[in-house]
Amino acid sequence: MQKIEQSTISQVKSLLVNNPKILIITHNNPDGDALGSTLGLFHCLKNQGFWVAMITPNDFPEFLQWMPGNELIVSGFSAKNLAIDRITNVDLIFCLDFNQANRLASLEETFNKSKAKKILIDHHPNPGNFPDICISDVTVSSCAEKVWQLMNLMDWKKYIDLKVAECIFAGIMTDTGAFSFNSSTQDTYKVVSELLDYGVNKDRIFDLVYNNFSADRMRLLGYCLEQKMKVFPEYKTAFISITKQELNNFNFKSGDTEGFVNYPLSIKGIKFAALFIENKSFIKASFRSKGAFNVNELAKTHFEGGGHINAAGGEFKGSMEENNAFFEGLLPSYKNKLIEE
Ligand code: 5GP
Ligand code: MN
Repeated sequence: MQKIEQSTISQVKSLLVNNPKILIITHNNPDGDALGSTLGLFHCLKNQGFWVAMITPNDFPEFLQWMPGNELIVSGFSAKNLAIDRITNVDLIFCLDFNQANRLASLEETFNKSKAKKILIDHHPNPGNFPDICISDVTVSSCAEKVWQLMNLMDWKKYIDLKVAECIFAGIMTDTGAFSFNSSTQDTYKVVSELLDYGVNKDRIFDLVYNNFSADRMRLLGYCLEQKMKVFPEYKTAFISITKQELNNFNFKSGDTEGFVNYPLSIKGIKFAALFIENKSFIKASFRSKGAFNVNELAKTHFEGGGHINAAGGEFKGSMEENNAFFEGLLPSYKNKLIEE
């Protein structure tokens, strides 16, 4: 975890005098870290008496609809006008868990036009230049971990309660794959230990997130692994692709494919995994890797996306057949990087 300079803390404090109207915004297709860091910061600011609103560009899946306060989040999909009004009329926007304004999807333009001061708290590489204050640290496991550090350095301990701690824990837990990815550090576990001191019930939260699936979702997973996974041992790569029709066959609900992309990585020798899901207008791509193979770079170069070294995403415009042929066609050019130890 990198240090946050005292001058940065002072800058944040100076934006919080005069009782600003505050908005917290996070990325499209919000994940557990996006929501956990948003809600954790929300409760901490509310406990201080601030006026605070929250926006996600679109809706979030059921398995994340349990965090305290999640019902107060305004969705840019189901309540676009309200979201636009909030972005335009607040004084200060905390931007959490994203590095570029285009991660706000259809809210990007309104966000760029907003006169509000912007504070970024994030852990993705290469933050854009939209924030007035940029707190970006790729060495933390999650945005939630960075928010926790900031809250403590701001001397907000007295405003931290169990709700804050639960949300921050959920953010860290989900972005580390329940502490299984290489993204967690000694500092992460120190933070987790502090969170447990606030009374967080880690087993309950694990259960709410990971043991909350429908039978349809489990069957979809089985189908994907048995019928839809292609393995390329010569490239240490495996991928899964799912069409809209196949999703419909399993009564797909948002969130059902969460985590599918990780499964191929548990095959011996596989270092690079991809998941392609057909959407209304494009193919959504998810990439994961182990070790030095940089999927952020691959997502940026070929799939109009980005992310982290070992977890990234993007989009492909075209049919699933075209996407899969395109992806398979890329593999030879990455062979050296994929097979290097
Ligand atoms: P996921 O595969 O779970 O959707 O996303 C994994 C990581 O890639 C996350 O850190 C997310 O922020 C990033 N990511 C996913 N989709 C996109 C995208 O379309 N564009 C960019 N820039 N990043 C993405
Ligand atoms: Mn994150």
